[in-house]
Amino acid sequence: MPLDPAQRSKRLELLRDRARECTACPDMAGRPDAVGDPAGSVDARCLVVATAPGPTKGGVDPVPLSGDHTGDSFTRLLADADLRRDQLYVTNAVLCTPRRGSRGRKVRVAEIQRCSTYLSGLVVTLDPALVVTLGTTALRAVAELAPHGLDLATHAGGVHRWMGRWLLPLYHPGPRAMIHRSWSEQRRDYATWRSLMD
Ligand code: SF4
Repeated sequence: MPLDPAQRSKRLELLRDRARECTACPDMAGRPDAVGDPAGSVDARCLVVATAPGPTKGGVDPVPLSGDHTGDSFTRLLADADLRRDQLYVTNAVLCTPRRGSRGRKVRVAEIQRCSTYLSGLVVTLDPALVVTLGTTALRAVAELAPHGLDLATHAGGVHRWMGRWLLPLYHPGPRAMIHRSWSEQRRDYATWRSLMD
């Protein structure tokens, strides 16, 4: 039976408390805030999965895909497609920031696997009709919940059934995405996303 908004809020609160205390990955920096109010509405029917929180001067950015160049691109792509952030719940494949010394690094597979418990918790709690993954790490992360056999090079921008809902794999809106996916192709992808929201 679907959870009502109060039940979803309560479960998200418990999930966030668990994530904040989690020390499963020894060299991840910062405690996560990507499960909580800044990430989106408990009423969102669309769950967006990005990569990992980026480091900021004050610690870890609590709102995924905001406050930097990538966040600006994401905001522009959403606006061009007439998508609103309050229609979405945005999280990351891993909730802590991957660091090597004072610098960032790629997310490790073991970290994706450990953090999938929180991603699974979000999917079960929000029960989204649509999951949008942004980038290879996010697509890899949702495969931890249920195999999908998809890869970005072949399946980006296509709509697929997965865990009884729709899955739309897209490129991450960071600068490197432009190597594989032009801005106009990304705009087309986001138009597909918009069409799935109705
Ligand atoms: S990345 Fe996820 S599993 Fe790893 S320490 Fe952070 S919350 Fe825990």
